[in-house]
Amino acid sequence: MKVLVINCGSSSLKYQLFDMNAESVLAKGLVERIGIDGSQIKHTKTGMEAVVKATPIPDHKVGIQLVLDALMDKGHGVLSSLDELSAVGHRVVHAGEKFSTSVKLDPQVMAALRECIPLAPLHNPANIMGIEAVTEVLPSVPQVAVFDTAFHQTMPEHAYIYGLPYGYYEKYKVRRYGFHGTSHYYVSRRAAEILDKPVERLKIVTCHLGNGSSITAVQGGRSIDTSMGFTPLAGVLMGTRCGDIDPALVAFIAQTEKLDIKDLDALLNKKSGLLGVSGLSSDLRDIEEAAAKGEPRSKLALAVLTYGIRKYIGAYAAAMGGIDALVFTAGVGENSILVRSMVCEGLEFLGVSIDQEKNKVRGKEADIGTSGSRVRVLVVPTNEELVIARDTKRLVAAD
Ligand code: ADP
Repeated sequence: MKVLVINCGSSSLKYQLFDMNAESVLAKGLVERIGIDGSQIKHTKTGMEAVVKATPIPDHKVGIQLVLDALMDKGHGVLSSLDELSAVGHRVVHAGEKFSTSVKLDPQVMAALRECIPLAPLHNPANIMGIEAVTEVLPSVPQVAVFDTAFHQTMPEHAYIYGLPYGYYEKYKVRRYGFHGTSHYYVSRRAAEILDKPVERLKIVTCHLGNGSSITAVQGGRSIDTSMGFTPLAGVLMGTRCGDIDPALVAFIAQTEKLDIKDLDALLNKKSGLLGVSGLSSDLRDIEEAAAKGEPRSKLALAVLTYGIRKYIGAYAAAMGGIDALVFTAGVGENSILVRSMVCEGLEFLGVSIDQEKNKVRGKEADIGTSGSRVRVLVVPTNEELVIARDTKRLVAAD
């Protein structure tokens, strides 16, 4: 069974084609600058060099057609006929409170996704465009949506209700939703497999640290709290997002700097975080390099970042009454030896102790705890696409 996984943004589209019998990736690629000058598709057949084709891509439908052409190409393609494609799985950012698991797409589900647009005005419209484009080009192929928010729907009320008038929750569905759910789900399951223990018996803190970052408390396999909130702006410091701040600062900055809502949104989402504190870069590699040379603001940015993560780990240990495993994933979590080391420093009281030699690992599964560490500390590369492909296969096969 072959499943195409699509992650559609407003001007880009990432894809991976899976052979689900072996759970292997046959090909993957990226369509960039959809609707913008300089658009292109970069396609890689597993085991071959990437092929880049620059061509006008006015909309997502043309983008999808190019993906299918690349998959069928005689030279770098992997399909001899589109009939080989059994299903398409989409990453969809927001399902509000409507879906707590992945679903097969039909007109009712599409209507529900449209209703969630106010909750994710930048992301859901792009995800919907991707689904509509596939529907036009491949009308008879079943499609599945896998949601970033779904895994967090198990959070108890006391973790998701904000200290605001309750009517805002009733009227506007204002609450904590959380994101990166597919990643937290995958790495928590994988951690249980690595530890050879049932996930139902484990208390795990999963740290998805990338450009966007979130931390989740996974108790008995279920998300019981997570650091992102109504939007992906909350929580720890990120590349360009501020994470948790005093909400009264928004009005203070608006007044003092004479900013309107659009400016404020850009300030908090695009000019803050590592970039804002360091004044140098949103990319952790640049920050690490500058900090190593003694640059004070980069050192500060690293300290703010790792202190914030450590506080969340402590908070979630309190929320779960202890922790059995701490998991690092995504660009920073999988690759930054320094961030992992700084985060774990001082967590010995919780039973977290890492082996500095074992910690010298990038992008690979590893147990980096000392042999005496009561809490297992794991690096687990995330694989959201595989979760999407598996859910897609399961839901389509269930028919
Ligand atoms: P996104 O949230 O956009 O998916 P990623 O998960 O790809 O982001 O993470 C990107 C971040 O990972 C960047 O800040 C980058 O600097 C960091 N990163 C990638 N490789 C390394 C590395 N070798 N050392 C330190 N940081 C790294």
